[in-house]
Amino acid sequence: MGDATELRILPARYGKAIHLAAGRSLEIVNLHGTQAIDTWAFNSAGPTEFLSLEHTRSRLSRVIPRVGDGLFTTRRNVILTMTGDTSPGIHDTLLCACSPELYGELGCEPSHRSCEVNLHEALSEIGLTAPCTPAPLNLFMNVGVGTNSEVIRDVPKSKPGDAVTLRAEMDAVVVLSACPQDVTPINGADCTPRDVGYRVV
Ligand SMILES: [Zn+2]
Repeated sequence: MGDATELRILPARYGKAIHLAAGRSLEIVNLHGTQAIDTWAFNSAGPTEFLSLEHTRSRLSRVIPRVGDGLFTTRRNVILTMTGDTSPGIHDTLLCACSPELYGELGCEPSHRSCEVNLHEALSEIGLTAPCTPAPLNLFMNVGVGTNSEVIRDVPKSKPGDAVTLRAEMDAVVVLSACPQDVTPINGADCTPRDVGYRVV
């Protein structure tokens, strides 16, 4: 996996899979402050165990994890711990990854990039496959629930340079996607996906 202590750039609209040994941490930097970053984690021993937001919400009894919280797998094991967050702490655990079908609904071209495609492309680059597209932890994505239970998609509250740090509690593969969404304002009011940064520490 190398010692990626220097900041690396994940280009807007693309994904990256990162081997993260137990005890190592991944710092994810919102360089422009406006970019949502879909995040997945798989047990290196087998991709059938992965970060599950259903299990995480159940174990935490909270919709959004905070610093100090574990993130749980489909087998209720802690795979990551959120050890740092310099943002206002608004992240989304409710919505699925964007996908070719979603962009079809939005009237986009079939070639529009998506977080779902990014996930599987990134895993393929390191010789792995996933049996499905798990629900992602959407870092910095501002999704609220209104008084009539409606889902509200809003612009991120994070600032340029805000960062989240996730520590691996088991050998894991973490996948990041700089969300290509450019129709709804979840990547900022100008609906423009932007580069993000990451480093292993
Ligand atoms: Zn997306």
